[in-house]
Amino acid sequence: MSVSERTYIMVKPDGVQRGLVGNILGRFEQRGFKLIALKLVHATPEHLEQHYIDLKGKSFFPGLIKYMASGPVVAMVWEGLDAVKTGRSMLGATNPLASAPGTIRGDFALAVGRNICHGSDSVENAEKEIKLWFPEGVVQYTNDNSKWIFE
Ligand code: UDP
Ligand code: MG
Repeated sequence: MSVSERTYIMVKPDGVQRGLVGNILGRFEQRGFKLIALKLVHATPEHLEQHYIDLKGKSFFPGLIKYMASGPVVAMVWEGLDAVKTGRSMLGATNPLASAPGTIRGDFALAVGRNICHGSDSVENAEKEIKLWFPEGVVQYTNDNSKWIFE
């Protein structure tokens, strides 16, 4: 856990189509995380298979790749204290029916196969995902409001 921990957050195609990008992005901004990379990208199935490599072999894998390749996604990197675990708790459970109200999935989704957003599940996976989606690197800049967010 560190102030400069990074996580990869992605609004999935259904989140983009449903106009939820601003709301999801806004939650991370409001919480105090620092945006260090952002782009809209229509990913290829090959790229998405790489992203979800750990799930290859699962029965839902082909459907997942088709869903994720069905439209553009918003790829983001957020930095801040305990970003990976906090990001996951802001997302809610994988199955939206088990997600608490107040979480992104708990507020906007009902089906596990249309759960509108992704968040890295470990610091190690976050690093891999950030490299995969942002091979060009993230943006370095000073955000002066950090002195109001951290002691
Ligand atoms: N998924 C699905 N059916 C399942 C489990 C997962 O369609 O039974 C999809 C769902 O969109 C999920 C993604 O596969 O977000 C990746 O699964 P993972 O277990 O990594 O969940 P996450 O980390 O996204 O919460
Ligand atoms: Mg996962």
